[in-house]
Amino acid sequence: MKTPFKILLSLTTLLFLFSFKTEPKPTKHVCTNTWGFFGHKRINRMAVFSLPPELFSFYKRNIEYITDHAVDPDKRRYAMKGEAERHYIDIDHYVKEGEDPFKVVPKKWEDAVAKFTEDTLKAYGIVPWHIEVMVKRLTKAFKTKNLDRILQYSAELGHYVGDAHVPLHTTENYNGQLTNQKGIHGFWESRIPELSAEDYNYWLGKCTYEADPLEVAWRVVKESAAEVDSVLSFEKKLTEEWPEDQKYCYEHRGQVIMKVYCKDFAMAYQKMLGNMQERRMRGSIITTASLWYTAWVNAGQPDLSNLNGEISDEMKKEMERNDQYFKQGKALGRDFEN
Ligand SMILES: [Zn+2]
Ligand SMILES: [Zn+2]
Repeated sequence: MKTPFKILLSLTTLLFLFSFKTEPKPTKHVCTNTWGFFGHKRINRMAVFSLPPELFSFYKRNIEYITDHAVDPDKRRYAMKGEAERHYIDIDHYVKEGEDPFKVVPKKWEDAVAKFTEDTLKAYGIVPWHIEVMVKRLTKAFKTKNLDRILQYSAELGHYVGDAHVPLHTTENYNGQLTNQKGIHGFWESRIPELSAEDYNYWLGKCTYEADPLEVAWRVVKESAAEVDSVLSFEKKLTEEWPEDQKYCYEHRGQVIMKVYCKDFAMAYQKMLGNMQERRMRGSIITTASLWYTAWVNAGQPDLSNLNGEISDEMKKEMERNDQYFKQGKALGRDFEN
């Protein structure tokens, strides 16, 4: 062949999810591309439209920021130790077969630390607790009417809420590495939404006030964990039924040919899951809006109509730094896509 195409399985190209590396244990899970960058951005953007009128105009004015920065936490893990574990919780790590992890793992951080130690919690992920932390941070930012922080924490809260909605963010078998299904992580959360998210229904009505954000975070994690079995077993079933060359295809991406899950295989999987990705994405959107709204109410419903400025230079520099690390970087922690 004269063409310069080559097959390249890039360490940073997340869509293409074939993972053959053995993972040390315990590992840390780095979300190289939860929901795909595309999915996270879509979640934050659509959440704006579920806000009540008092908040809608502020978020609408800042919708580009909220959209673009939905992926900052994934970028930041290149620069910051301690970031990786905020994106997941391997809830099944804590139990033996037949036990209910949601009875075993205490809901409150202090109780969980007392039972399992902080190091262990961090090794297996802290997403529900971090969502609560982010709601508190956002509340404080609203109270002080700090534009930089309101925007930053809103965008980031949407990210963690989105991550908590992904079933494979709640299990040690996060990339099917324990069941010979490596690649399933990106397949579920990136490949499928990229193929079909334009067809999802994003109209969700208005969000609600949540009196207990930590409880909300746990509910989301519990729903996600309940789907893990289907996520894994349906892919396994299809793999047994479909010939290999109909499961994996090659697609041109610029000058490169990539090995990807075939579109028909992806659609069959999505159908078998009863459009789970759409359901979880819708859940992410409404929960994000509800927690933004909750933080604002808890801050005393400050008037944001004159908060019109731009983000500070300092904040812009911080964002540039993250971008640089991201472009150069190798993630700190678990890297399941490769
Ligand atoms: Zn993430
Ligand atoms: Zn992920």
